[in-house]
Amino acid sequence: MASGDSAQRVVVLGSTGSVGRAALDVIEHDAGARLRLWGLSAHSRWRELAEQARRFRPRYAVVSDPAHAGQVVDELRGSGVEVLCGEDGVVRMVQDPATDRVCTAIVGAAGLKGTWAALEAGKLVALANKETLVMAGPLVMALARATGAPIIPVDSEHSAIFQALKAGERGEVKRVILTSSGGPFRGRSRANLVDVTPEQALNHPTWRMGPKITIDSATLMNKALEVVEARWLFDLEPGQIEVVVHPESIVHSMVEFVDGGMIAQLSPPDMRLPIQYALHYPERRPGLGRGIDLTRALGLGFEPPDRETFPALELGFEVMRAGGTAGAVLNAANEAAVTRFLKGEIRFLDIARACRAVLDQHAFDLRPTLDGLLAVDAWARRELEKWNT
Ligand code: MG
Repeated sequence: MASGDSAQRVVVLGSTGSVGRAALDVIEHDAGARLRLWGLSAHSRWRELAEQARRFRPRYAVVSDPAHAGQVVDELRGSGVEVLCGEDGVVRMVQDPATDRVCTAIVGAAGLKGTWAALEAGKLVALANKETLVMAGPLVMALARATGAPIIPVDSEHSAIFQALKAGERGEVKRVILTSSGGPFRGRSRANLVDVTPEQALNHPTWRMGPKITIDSATLMNKALEVVEARWLFDLEPGQIEVVVHPESIVHSMVEFVDGGMIAQLSPPDMRLPIQYALHYPERRPGLGRGIDLTRALGLGFEPPDRETFPALELGFEVMRAGGTAGAVLNAANEAAVTRFLKGEIRFLDIARACRAVLDQHAFDLRPTLDGLLAVDAWARRELEKWNT
């Protein structure tokens, strides 16, 4: 791929997931004008990783599961792509002095290490791994401030807020309003959700995403995690964050300023737009996303969330207010609960109940270290494994 000297060298962590693949589409569309793929990583989907590496010819390909390293080395022999493995490989690729930007598209707590390494080295981070901020928001933001590493959110709501914040000064912000599609079970009652199957929960009305985030969207845990993410990312007071249900997923979030004016960002639901915004930031470039078609009637609806049917949302607000170790506990408990739900071990409504039980048991610490958070993460997973209805 042709590449100008000024092209930003981009590393994509989690390149075989839905956001990772979309990031590669954005880089491919740019055709080397501004962006060049410098490295990619995947965990177990090694065949797809090797295929991506053959297509883009990056400097590095990292297979984080060492069990598959040999296969990737064989696949890429003679290609000029250097194959690294394990977490050390991720750190080396991310911290390579030639790396300019790192898109962190790994799902779950597994994304923390690579994000941390990128911030430590002062790289611009296009942050698609919300769990990093849910777990360790204050520590992550302090590290970014210390090294001067910019964090540009890729989560569509946070990208919208980031863009809308440019309309005023920080002291002029009254509140931010995160929009939620309401997920596939909007309008249902609790009684109606007792027998929900993983297949039903995996059928999202507006967004096509991986299984973990799709289940999180059905429980509204995704919005709960995003509330926590927003607090740390934008350094907001707990009372400044609200959630509104907006089924069309066209308005991606809003910022209200002190004078009552509200600035929103609108676009069709397509992750490539916020990814492109972050990778090109501060430039805006023509890209793959289409605009909104206003030649046809377009209705936009807003309604308050149903907190009784979706109690996960309240957990997010609680954890956001508490800070400390609470986010790491909720995040880890939820990851383990989603895994158990997908395996058929617990029911849909148990996800929030089990998370609540683990949160209530945990020994809260307001100022944990990173190691303390990792220990809390492991503890919460074990507790959730043991949880019984
Ligand atoms: Mg989102």
